[in-house]
Amino acid sequence: MSESTDVGKQARARVTEPAVWQVLSTIADPEIPTLSVVDLGVVRRVRIERDAIVVELMPTFLGCPALSSMRDVIVERVGALAPTRVELVRDQAWTSDRITEEGRRRLRASGFAPPARGDVLALPILPLAECPYCGSRDTVLESPFGPTACRAIHYCATCRQPFEQFKAV
Ligand SMILES: [Zn+2]
Repeated sequence: MSESTDVGKQARARVTEPAVWQVLSTIADPEIPTLSVVDLGVVRRVRIERDAIVVELMPTFLGCPALSSMRDVIVERVGALAPTRVELVRDQAWTSDRITEEGRRRLRASGFAPPARGDVLALPILPLAECPYCGSRDTVLESPFGPTACRAIHYCATCRQPFEQFKAV
């Protein structure tokens, strides 16, 4: 039989779901390196299948250029355990509610405005954002196009500082 089948059998015998989640928790989101893909809530499920580890990935923003790099990194890093496949989730939308408490804390600590809970994801950009510096809600959307396609620039009228917001779409 082929080599990959042997590796697959070993994967089934040795790899556990918690071990895969552990590796995933060390993978930084390409847009916001202080957040792991687990903090961001983009991994819906991990399945250990007969011939591969399958990671179900929920994109935060379809068409986000970070998606393919995130996918490559997951395949590479989790692939160190056993052959790994990333499946894009298309039957369920990621929502900002999936960001963990730890993720929200890290977003604030790094000067990002965490998306408000329960945001409706049909909106391409969140018009209202809380200023990560002073907590003011008196902010305006300055530019929907931040340094990358997945960020937006806001301006705080209270402390007069621009800040970036991660687009929760
Ligand atoms: Zn402010």
